[in-house]
Amino acid sequence: MWVRGPSRISEADATRFRERRKVLGLGPLVVHDNYLINLASPNPVLRTRSVQAFHQEIVRALALGADFLVAHPGCSREGGAEAAVSAIAQGLKQAARNLKLEGLQILLENTAGQGTSMGSRFEELRAVLDAASDLPLGVCIDTAHTFAAGWDIRTAGGLEKTLQAIDRTVGLDRVRVVHVNDSKTHLGSRVDRHEHIGKGKIGLEAFGRIVNHPFLAGRAFILETPIDKLGDDRRNVAALWKLMGVSIPVTGGRDGMKPRRKKTSKKSARKNVSRAKAKLKKRQSKKRRSKTRGK
Ligand SMILES: [Zn+2]
Repeated sequence: MWVRGPSRISEADATRFRERRKVLGLGPLVVHDNYLINLASPNPVLRTRSVQAFHQEIVRALALGADFLVAHPGCSREGGAEAAVSAIAQGLKQAARNLKLEGLQILLENTAGQGTSMGSRFEELRAVLDAASDLPLGVCIDTAHTFAAGWDIRTAGGLEKTLQAIDRTVGLDRVRVVHVNDSKTHLGSRVDRHEHIGKGKIGLEAFGRIVNHPFLAGRAFILETPIDKLGDDRRNVAALWKLMGVSIPVTGGRDGMKPRRKKTSKKSARKNVSRAKAKLKKRQSKKRRSKTRGK
């Protein structure tokens, strides 16, 4: 929509992805929608584009065999909250029209409540769930957003109160994914700035209670913490595992990159080249041999 380029995933890529996931036995697959999508927009052009873009998000999520598609509810702008709830619900329905959602659930994410963004109040999320009750909808709770929206999850009592409020409104059974992020901003700031686990205003102790809370057991925990330094993502994941009583190595390979090779001297580099050449020669002669044998 706003970004040029192919928005469809080719059938070959999708099949390869699904097969690889099966081999690796990877758990729930969660896709996040484009941040520019605003189903709540009172501007008809932006809204139409948003519906089209969200339709494409669903198509891609289905192609990949995703379990959940996380969506930000959107910003009401000058339109007001009530109109926004109905616009979001209608937008979701329009985007999902003529598509079989099969195992895919759309999850509305709670927000920090920045500007006119919808979903910082759990009641607003509930209103959308009710207004689009024919769709498979659920909720994604972001810890940083929850905290910035004014819920003090730093203490045991505060966490209890928050989880009870979530249960009373959307229902804990509809919370399928938790975005686990520390917050750079203070309680009730309504500003959405993620921080490394334990380095922000929520703090490590609180995350120990969150990831081990029985009310949140079985949910997919996803980190959206910043990557300021190479390996920050691994360190944040390791921090969460540690809080759950599991230790995992943080080192070994660079994230998403080939393992760093040892620096080679010019001399040994030359040696490597000649070794590689010799290998290639050997392979070629082998090929030639097998070809002649095949004749
Ligand atoms: Zn999030």
